[in-house]
Amino acid sequence: MIIILKSGATDAQIDHVIERVESLGLRAHLSRGTHRTIIGVIGDESQFEPAQFQVLPGVTEVIRVLPAYKLASNEAHPEPSVVDVAGVKVGGGNLAMIAGPCAIEGAKRLDTIAADVRAAGANILRGGAFKPRTSPYAYQGMGEEGLKILRDVGQKHGMPVVTEVMDPRRVEMVERYADMIQIGARNMQNFVLLTEVGSTKKPVLLKRGMSATIVDLLMSAEYILSQGNPNVVLCERGVKGFDSIARNLFDVAAVPACKALSHLPIIVDPSHATGRPDLIGPCALAGVAAGADGVHIEVHNCPEEAMSDGPQALLPAAYEELAGQIRQLAALLGKSISSPPASKR
Ligand code: PEP
Ligand code: MN
Repeated sequence: MIIILKSGATDAQIDHVIERVESLGLRAHLSRGTHRTIIGVIGDESQFEPAQFQVLPGVTEVIRVLPAYKLASNEAHPEPSVVDVAGVKVGGGNLAMIAGPCAIEGAKRLDTIAADVRAAGANILRGGAFKPRTSPYAYQGMGEEGLKILRDVGQKHGMPVVTEVMDPRRVEMVERYADMIQIGARNMQNFVLLTEVGSTKKPVLLKRGMSATIVDLLMSAEYILSQGNPNVVLCERGVKGFDSIARNLFDVAAVPACKALSHLPIIVDPSHATGRPDLIGPCALAGVAAGADGVHIEVHNCPEEAMSDGPQALLPAAYEELAGQIRQLAALLGKSISSPPASKR
């Protein structure tokens, strides 16, 4: 951390800043220039907030040298992380092909969709049992019964499964059924929930909040990592924009931007980012071209009957076509797509 003093800072003020730095177990390195005096703070700055020094008399600015998202940063871990989702590798040149319905609606429906997306090349099955809905009157999900269906269907088709948890009190339950736990956009800054999933070893799919900055996203990842769970996959799913032509604004630049700052894998979710089947394919391909470590797509075999997010669902045939294009692009980019482990039943 670097503390910059005001041009008229007095010796007493400078001494006071040095005393504060040293009282926190850090070392201070004073450098007096012609116009400005700066104090370099040497020590583990992750334990301190710039604001602690910013308020001292005579201080004009405090600059962090290292990012606050210490564990998520590239500096902590220069190689890209690879997250293993029950045998499916995500990151470091391995693409996740996550697909399935928005919500689990019943065993038969999920089984049919799973068979379709598996045949098309998906390697992780998704489906929500606890749905974050804007309206309390909208379909809320099947709860634990849905989790059981998801696990059984995933096992039948040999696909690891990812599902959302919204409540810290349900983490233990969701963890029993899921191979990967999703933290949805609305809960990206639910710090109690992040801490709870951080205390498991399950891979976590952390979706970017709809008004979260990239640094906010990395700080939320830091909550999980700092609890000892290194298995975090980030997800760009669109942020609030001003144009109602699409559901959200797909921030494709977030992919290379995250990679420039962090070793964590990042995937894209063009379904929630655009909310329009005709925009999902181009945005999925743009995400992969931008360096994404996977794509997360909602697929339904009868969107008109879907309990949630029907209008943005891709039909299985459209998903199959897109998955083929993603495979071609992946080959061009030298990326691989892990096959899911063989069916367990
Ligand atoms: C979902 O994956 O169905 C979902 C609710 O996503 P998000 O949190 O990105 O809106
Ligand atoms: Mn959805």
